[in-house]
Amino acid sequence: MTTVAAYAAPSPKAPLERTTIERRAVGAHDVLIDIRFTGICHSDIHQVQEGWGEGIFPMVPGHEIAGVVSEVGPAVTRFTVGDRVGVGCMVDSCRVCENCKAGLQQYCVRRPTWTYNAVGKDGEPTYGGYAQRIVVDENYVLRIPDGLPLDVAAPLLCAGITTYSPLKHWNVGPGKKVAVVGFGGLGHMGVRIAHALGAEVTVLSQSLRKKDDGLRLGADHYFATGDPATFDTLRGTFDMVLNTVSAPLDFGAFLGLLRTDGAMVNLGLPDEPVQIPLSAVLGDRRSLTSSGIGGIPETQEMLDFCAEHGLGAVIEVIRADQINEAYERVVRSDVRYRFVIDIATI
Ligand code: NAP
Ligand code: ZN
Ligand code: ZN
Repeated sequence: MTTVAAYAAPSPKAPLERTTIERRAVGAHDVLIDIRFTGICHSDIHQVQEGWGEGIFPMVPGHEIAGVVSEVGPAVTRFTVGDRVGVGCMVDSCRVCENCKAGLQQYCVRRPTWTYNAVGKDGEPTYGGYAQRIVVDENYVLRIPDGLPLDVAAPLLCAGITTYSPLKHWNVGPGKKVAVVGFGGLGHMGVRIAHALGAEVTVLSQSLRKKDDGLRLGADHYFATGDPATFDTLRGTFDMVLNTVSAPLDFGAFLGLLRTDGAMVNLGLPDEPVQIPLSAVLGDRRSLTSSGIGGIPETQEMLDFCAEHGLGAVIEVIRADQINEAYERVVRSDVRYRFVIDIATI
């Protein structure tokens, strides 16, 4: 066991504060990672607030982890000391179910072991990346390509893969029109990746406040959802509507933007239940579907793709003692476009 400094919420909805946690001893298949940067995902806030249900406290959030390997167990074959690595939303899964065998560990039928707010196979709670070090089985560790600085790579471990996976699954590319709803952490990566895949990309944001950034980061068009005319202008336009919004939406209005056979893919997971008018789906054989992060092989593919296309996240690096303030800004949609904690400041 090693004691490491971390930032934790001691109880539900409480501000995060500096503390220490224990990491397990490095096992045969484990890698010890000195964390350098961790992104703040809106999912961290949902979970600290218990928006998705009861949490495990104290809670050390953080599943957008980038760092350097400082020790490896004797059976580790894929990593050596000094390697630049990342860890995303999961640190284990059953490894034997159909989905695990297919590299879709995020859909493990027995549920993956989430990086934090979960209980590992050893019966101990998992603690995430707002901490100086983490111990992870090498099979759930990703390699960060040389071309990607660690600070801009960290958010790819969740925001990057969560947008890359559905864009690939629904064959987004040249000739396809994609709308990205919400221009925050996931949204800005969705725009960058969809553009790099060759699609025609439209941002649907609450206002035009971030339009210049949207166009600079690869959007072809940018509309305000606060303007009702947007929904008339864009009716029946898109092959895919990628919803990254953290709050409930007027689903009928957004489904109406799809072409026949188009798909609205939900990535956002609001605290509140949502209402879906089925008539908006039936009308034009539209699909309403969802996607969750991505499997380990696809996460590596995404990191390599982002390195090849020079696609890091657009970030604001903060000190650890600014985490609570950053949470407030994320909730106010005042983020451009991901807060990343400099772990050296813990
Ligand atoms: P974020 O950075 O806060 O971005 C969400 C964006 O949604 C905001 O920037 C804002 O964009 C828009 N928005 C926020 N409140 C809104 C409201 N009341 N009405 C309309 N639009 C609103 O959050 P994120 O980290 O990208 O995460 C987004 C959601 O995805 C969260 O619910 C998160 O838990 C979930 N998530 C899911 C997965 C998955 O595997 N499916 C993975 C990661 C995260 P504008 O200012 O442009 O309107
Ligand atoms: Zn996340
Ligand atoms: Zn499984």
